[in-house]
Amino acid sequence: MSRYRESVCRICRRENLKLYFKGDRCYSDKCAFDRRSYPPGQHGQRRGGKVSDYGLQLREKQKVKRMYGLSEKQFRLFFHRADRGKGVTGTRLLVMLERRLDNVVYRLGFANSRAQARQLVKHDHFFINGGKVNIPSYQVSPGDVVEVREKSKNIAAISEAMEAVVRRSMPQWLELDKEGMKGNVKTLPVRDDITMPIQENQIIEFYSK
Ligand code: SF4
Repeated sequence: MSRYRESVCRICRRENLKLYFKGDRCYSDKCAFDRRSYPPGQHGQRRGGKVSDYGLQLREKQKVKRMYGLSEKQFRLFFHRADRGKGVTGTRLLVMLERRLDNVVYRLGFANSRAQARQLVKHDHFFINGGKVNIPSYQVSPGDVVEVREKSKNIAAISEAMEAVVRRSMPQWLELDKEGMKGNVKTLPVRDDITMPIQENQIIEFYSK
């Protein structure tokens, strides 16, 4: 599957938003967005003209897709699933993205970024309700317990991430047992739990053409 190869800091600069791809660095004075908060590229500092409706919709879609580290094909699939279900499509889309296991591992603080969470999940470091799950797109449900496997509890990447998680707030729909290195999914997330600035209606417009 194709993956984004450009420097991830360029994504933050292009989307004009800190997307926290790099763990500790994002909170330090080395953050590229804090140092150069204008779009990347030769003409980055000169841009700023009127953006078309299509341009706004495209940027919003790209921002959310990259925030969750998905390919176009994966993101489109999520959108169509959200569109087929009951309720508001945009909200359903965001809730489904939040329920991904890699996102939950990141939110609980077992990883410094969603990309790192995805790797850890794929490498069998987590149990859900006592059983091995290594599918990053797995949708968690209320009552699920996401636990670091016994053999993985000494992995430096996980313990370092857990030390650093205090800088992020824990969403209300999750509960962390730091000592036990496990998290409980208390409820499904709701729209207000997603605090990053996202205009999901723009994404719907983008795919409705
Ligand atoms: Fe984005 Fe800054 Fe983190 Fe780079 S260091 S990924 S620019 S938030």
